[in-house]
Amino acid sequence: MMKIKSYEAIALNVPEEDPLANMPEEEGRTRPVVILRLLTDNGLEGIAVTFYAGKLNGALKKTLEQMCELVIGEDPFRIEHIVANLRNSTGDPTGAGGMFSLALSAIDIALWDIKGKFLEQPLYKLLGGHRDRVPTYASGSLRRGLTDDQAQEAAATLISKGFKQMKTQMALPGDPSPADEVRRVQVIRDVIGPDIKLMCDINQGWRPEQAIDIGNRVEDVGLFWLEDVTRADDYQGLARVTKSLKTPIAGGEYLYGIAPFHQMIQAHSVDIIMVDIIRAGGVTQWMKIAGMAEAANLPIVSHVMPEILVHVVAACPNGLTVEYMPWMLELFEETPEIVDGELVLPNKPGLGLKFDEKAVALFKA
Ligand SMILES: [Mg+2]
Repeated sequence: MMKIKSYEAIALNVPEEDPLANMPEEEGRTRPVVILRLLTDNGLEGIAVTFYAGKLNGALKKTLEQMCELVIGEDPFRIEHIVANLRNSTGDPTGAGGMFSLALSAIDIALWDIKGKFLEQPLYKLLGGHRDRVPTYASGSLRRGLTDDQAQEAAATLISKGFKQMKTQMALPGDPSPADEVRRVQVIRDVIGPDIKLMCDINQGWRPEQAIDIGNRVEDVGLFWLEDVTRADDYQGLARVTKSLKTPIAGGEYLYGIAPFHQMIQAHSVDIIMVDIIRAGGVTQWMKIAGMAEAANLPIVSHVMPEILVHVVAACPNGLTVEYMPWMLELFEETPEIVDGELVLPNKPGLGLKFDEKAVALFKA
């Protein structure tokens, strides 16, 4: 039996650049992350990345290390057994959110990477392998902090790079009128034309009634979805907005674990389920949420880390598109290619990723 032998967690500060359109909101800003290597007694290495702890990144690294200690000696194929043991270790067998979930996800992703490497199969095939290419959209370039001119320039750059889908943001800084908000998406639409799919993220910035008002006014621009229009845990408020607008509403990236998605689906809060794999608890939990969404006739979309999430979206019949957020690309030697606006699934085993050791050394916190 293969066993987990050792681990290494490293805290990094990854530059927050915008390699897609070279339009960063703030020069020189970095994002704290923790990378994980999980090693087996037969020489396999599973890798993962976790973050969202911000200035508490040191605490996340410590949490991850303490949890990895509890995984030493375990059979990496018994993932649900390992997850149950880790949950029990906190005294809360049903859950534990926050740091626990952020660390659990790294362990779970690394275990799936090991599984794929052992079986010599790419992760998306282990999980169902529904497609070997998936649509993707450029994210992180058309931020709300840009001027209209900068947003138009960035949109033109994304088009020139062949993107067929892209995401912008509303809930603009300052004290924008509803007309200001609509103008921002209109100026982008003017540049990209009618056929490019344009998503728009509100990042929980509006009240439900504001979302209904601005959502109605923006309907003629033609958005592929409006995302996180109000607080993520206001399931009923979201449902009011979803019922009132023709534009599909997406949401879910802020939720921890799987149970909140059940609430969200029951309340008809959104038209498109977005899952953050790190908050959800890793690949194992992502697939459970995808199944719930499929049963409810809802598409599922990913949040950040396309190089990892491409596998889970491609695996599922209801996977809609992959967010191409380039935050972590620099951490890896090679990441999946985009051809004709679609991500091509790698054929290498597991995640198909290798840390770029030079980048890891350079970004060390
Ligand atoms: Mg979002």
